[in-house]
Amino acid sequence: MQKWTRYPTVRSFLIKASIVLAGVCCAVAAPASDTENSHHKDGKAGWFPDTPPVPHFSWRPRPCPSCTELTPATPWRKMASLAGIGRVHFLRAPDERNGIAYSVAPATIVLSPAALSLSRCALSFVIGHEITHLALRHYDQDVVTLAFLAHQPVIPGANGDDIIQMLDGDFSLALKMSPYWEAEEHEADWAGSLLAAQACGCTIEKGAIAFLHSNTDESGGGIAAAHETDQTRIRELKPFIRSAHILADGAH
Ligand SMILES: [Zn+2]
Repeated sequence: MQKWTRYPTVRSFLIKASIVLAGVCCAVAAPASDTENSHHKDGKAGWFPDTPPVPHFSWRPRPCPSCTELTPATPWRKMASLAGIGRVHFLRAPDERNGIAYSVAPATIVLSPAALSLSRCALSFVIGHEITHLALRHYDQDVVTLAFLAHQPVIPGANGDDIIQMLDGDFSLALKMSPYWEAEEHEADWAGSLLAAQACGCTIEKGAIAFLHSNTDESGGGIAAAHETDQTRIRELKPFIRSAHILADGAH
């Protein structure tokens, strides 16, 4: 889970321009299904944000034939429940080629060997971050935002990839999207941290901050920018440190 945006083409655009996004991961793919993506309110944490009422879009399948099934640990399932989603499918990637961790709509999280070698709390933060992307359907939110910015109609059920492809070669549109991505990444950071606190007893210091301090991936934002981005993310998490302590204390 590093500072890469959801869409590689856009990412390369922004990296070349030395524009730093606060993003960490990627999301998108597979067909969206109301049944599969339905939220199970039982067990959902009262503090977890409500999913915005955006339409569901469809996505072209993006299979990972080299991935293997991963049995989720009980705290991972609890984080999903706290976020209001009933089931998350976990896969293990063979390497970090596509990043340390990423989520695929509507309910899949892919973890690399590097992610699985993190400390328990750093990994819990990474998974909580990805669960937040799925639970809040950031991939569908992006389609609505992009369509609005590009003056295109929003058609529920339409193929989300077709809208996302509008970003290809459109640096101006990517720039307009970057604040929305930053907001989603920040939301995934703080909500993911609190999921890790409540489900795993992990403080932000042992989860997100430990992960960001150990983060040496340079795949997003450029070498100089990477450190600065992590510092920004840590600073923006500080208002949530006390809440995480309270939730972590209650988890024991
Ligand atoms: Zn992310």
